[in-house]
Amino acid sequence: MSKQMQNIPIAKPWIGELEAEAARRAIMSGWVTQGPEVAAFEQEFAAYVGANHACAVSNCTTALHLALLAVGVQPGDEVITVSHSYIATANSIRYCGAIPVFVDIEPQTYNINPLLIEDAISERTRAILIVHQMGMPCDLKAILDIAHRYGLPVIEDAACAIASEILWEGKWEKIGKPHGDIACFSFHPRKVITTGDGGMITTNNPEWDQQFRLWRQHGMSVPDTVRHGAKQVIFESYPMLGYNYRMTDIQAAVGREQLKRLPEIVERRRYLAQRYHDQLADIPGLKLPTEPTRAKSNWQSYCVRLPDSCNQLQVMQVMLDAGIGTRRGIMCAHREPAYCHETWSCGSDRLTESEQAQDHAILLPLFHQMSKQEQDAVVNELKTVYQMQR
Ligand SMILES: *Cc1c(COP(=O)(O)O)cnc(C)c1O
Repeated sequence: MSKQMQNIPIAKPWIGELEAEAARRAIMSGWVTQGPEVAAFEQEFAAYVGANHACAVSNCTTALHLALLAVGVQPGDEVITVSHSYIATANSIRYCGAIPVFVDIEPQTYNINPLLIEDAISERTRAILIVHQMGMPCDLKAILDIAHRYGLPVIEDAACAIASEILWEGKWEKIGKPHGDIACFSFHPRKVITTGDGGMITTNNPEWDQQFRLWRQHGMSVPDTVRHGAKQVIFESYPMLGYNYRMTDIQAAVGREQLKRLPEIVERRRYLAQRYHDQLADIPGLKLPTEPTRAKSNWQSYCVRLPDSCNQLQVMQVMLDAGIGTRRGIMCAHREPAYCHETWSCGSDRLTESEQAQDHAILLPLFHQMSKQEQDAVVNELKTVYQMQR
């Protein structure tokens, strides 16, 4: 008999009537681009992560671009980062005309290896851009120690890390507080909460926050919201080159509802991740993700490492045939044509852990609405193909 048809996607946003109602509220208000909903979302987001300032933008890629500009990254500069990330991380560096210098990852956390950072620093290094990959916090303490010694700003790519936590001077704190200089978040549907597309920049530096607000709105001196509400005619000016990196009020209204759901979402994800740990622990040779004692992941992705004897593509295909969506390990930017053809592109001999992770890891389905039965089906299918491959 053929397998019962099932469809378990890799991810699925938890979004519904409340968000639809919020979007309706924004639309019916008559003000649909960046306005009061964005302002409220920013305040609520800043309060949630514990940051002094939060500035909403169109997505995390534009957030990273502005963060790098704010810390002074200029053409010809170098920025230390990882290749093992979604390509947007490295792209944001190139938007500034700067060169990404790739550092390898730790195989256990899939995050930048702090022990390798110092060797990558040169006199052209202007910043360090770290990634809390798949929601697992980096070893921020070790990274900041190095950064402070060299006087380098640290930007956190927290695209996947909303609600992730680190143990900071004896207290659990949210990623985005921020512990580096600036943290950048994404609300793409593949992340833990979504606004369709969207991003947020958090910082404790009021000047940078002001700068973000100008840049995201064409460098406009007087925002349209202020001119709209004014009793006197006001002319705006454009003192600097800006961008259109705004979030709309429709998105922000949705984001505010998503933020309310966040504690429940994270609790559920942590529960399901623990269930994967328990059920997959007895598969020989399968490496499960490890959470350092200093970190709590939001489990944006649950990533397992197959032994070298397993064929990653085949495992994924068998699972897909059974109606289960998986993804391979996180990509490596340095292997893509957009990168490997550049003269400054670094050799892959230094990035073996990054490549190993891409080639041998697979991401399993994990989403809020996932039932125990669905999760059991994933576990059973993985166990079955594992037997076949050995
Ligand atoms: C998703 C992601 C981005 C890009 O986020 P967008 O909001 O889609 O621009 C950047 N960095 C990392 C690590 C990501 O996972």
